[in-house]
Amino acid sequence: MVTLESIPRVHSTMATRIVVVEDEPAIRRGVVDALKTAGYLPVEAADGAAGLEEAIRTGVDLVLLDLLLPKKDGFSVLRELRKVRPTLPVIILTARGTEDDRVNGLKLGADDYVVKPFSARELLARVEAVMRRSAARPADLRGARLGRGVIDFARREIRWGKDQREELSETETAVLTFLAANKERAISREELLERVWGISQKEAETRTIDMHIARLRSKLRDPSGKPTPEAIVTVRSQGYMAGPELTPLETAEDA
Ligand code: CA
Repeated sequence: MVTLESIPRVHSTMATRIVVVEDEPAIRRGVVDALKTAGYLPVEAADGAAGLEEAIRTGVDLVLLDLLLPKKDGFSVLRELRKVRPTLPVIILTARGTEDDRVNGLKLGADDYVVKPFSARELLARVEAVMRRSAARPADLRGARLGRGVIDFARREIRWGKDQREELSETETAVLTFLAANKERAISREELLERVWGISQKEAETRTIDMHIARLRSKLRDPSGKPTPEAIVTVRSQGYMAGPELTPLETAEDA
């Protein structure tokens, strides 16, 4: 039998560890000072390889990542980082404010970017915004309850009682995790595309979302035929939202 309980997460800057990957000493210094003043705990890395090493350590909450770096460029760092820490917030610091860099960075899973030269105030505003978004993020969400069903994100399945279970695909799990982590708001198809699929909006592709949601909904129906609360509701002209009875669970213990 599995018992799950929900513990609300409180975000505080006190314990927020931020890795600053920047090879230019003056910029790195400035960023580190600004972060310290704001109450964050910055960790410095002067090249891409060192940055990646620091970023994958446990306890890191956010990464500020320059693109042009010695040893390993920012895109490679981000690509490798995403394999191990898929949800770790990353903000790109770029001198090259080109559309390509921005799009590539977001495609690779960066959360935001800041164009150099930036002010301390601008940087801190971005950091704060990303931290706020990620506070409600999948990282620590273990599952969700839906009616008598328990959705297990790690095992990618929904269980109904003892021996009935339905497998969920990686994408379906990601969609559900994202909706459950952002329970309080409607999520547009564009945002789902960007946050779950990692691609920026294209008209044609938003229909793919609708297909995924339709399939996912049918998988989340209680197989016993009992009425199931809606896991995902459609919010007209806005997108999708976690149903009121989809209850996020942050810890899972086998009892
Ligand atoms: Ca650089």
